[in-house]
Amino acid sequence: MTRPLDAVFARLPASAFRMRFRLGAREQAYLRDKGMDTVLSHARDFVAQRLAPAQPANDGRQTPFRGHPVFIAQHATATCCRGCLAKWHDIPAGKAMTLEEQQHAVAAIERWLRGQSTD
Ligand SMILES: [Zn+2]
Repeated sequence: MTRPLDAVFARLPASAFRMRFRLGAREQAYLRDKGMDTVLSHARDFVAQRLAPAQPANDGRQTPFRGHPVFIAQHATATCCRGCLAKWHDIPAGKAMTLEEQQHAVAAIERWLRGQSTD
């Protein structure tokens, strides 16, 4: 069973590494300009292409640290690679992610993005 998002978000503050991620000025501007719906459609694509396969390309290094708000959100929510998804979200590595698991990852990204100020 995928770990409920409330449980994941309750644990994230214990990680200094996860907590240090913030949207930079560029990513904030991108989110403001494109809007949440568009950014979340990118999130769905990134998850489907970079995470969902049983053996993703460059797993562990497939998520850049800047350049798109979703990338930052992925590091902040431990949805950056299959190792982190297994450890933090109870989504097993080594097999293709189900659609539900993909939606869970996108929901984590959305929740984090909505919690970020874009002022
Ligand atoms: Zn990771």
